[in-house]
Amino acid sequence: MKLLEERKKIISISNKLLTDGFINDGQGNLSIYDRQSGLVAITPSAVPYDQRDVEDICVVDLDRNIVEGKWKPTSETPLHLIYYKNRLDVNAVIHSHALNSTVFGIIGDEPMPMILTEAATGLGGAVPIAPYVRPGTDELAEVTFKAIGDGFAAIMANHGLITVGPTIELAYAATAAAEATAETLILVRSMGVKAKSLSDNEVKSLRELFLNYKPANNPDA
Ligand SMILES: [Zn+2]
Repeated sequence: MKLLEERKKIISISNKLLTDGFINDGQGNLSIYDRQSGLVAITPSAVPYDQRDVEDICVVDLDRNIVEGKWKPTSETPLHLIYYKNRLDVNAVIHSHALNSTVFGIIGDEPMPMILTEAATGLGGAVPIAPYVRPGTDELAEVTFKAIGDGFAAIMANHGLITVGPTIELAYAATAAAEATAETLILVRSMGVKAKSLSDNEVKSLRELFLNYKPANNPDA
């Protein structure tokens, strides 16, 4: 079986996202790119999360051809492949309909600022909002890719959240950080006050500390 380890990771991170309430059945999709073989392990379109086993995860190439698997890959496959074709630092993508990020994508009209230390570590910068485009289209992949730039997350207006990373664990950390930020911002704004942001320099430093994490220098353990 191709990409067995990647398939196992997709299932374990899916379970984590389900437990956290970041995804529901029928929503969201995950993938991991194996740069060596040029193949992508990606979630199927029609199997409920709690019934997925390693053989249910699809393997496709960068041209969207199915290489292995018994199901069709997610209809959002272009949303994933665009990063693997164009960014050398991205090997994992998570698309979710995480509630608070989705809400922020409806009420927010500017990038989500960095107001939490955990968001600074998990994201490293403000989260842009990509304009609404119909799900499952190449155009959605393109506008979202453009919105993220060289960052690691974007909110998809009226739809959900996408995060990317060098590993699926870092893409997960970005999802958790975006969701915490959105939830906190909604609370702050509901009080009718403006949120205070961390400075750009502090965000950059916290992100670097996180990426070079050693137990002895964790700033927020
Ligand atoms: Zn979606």
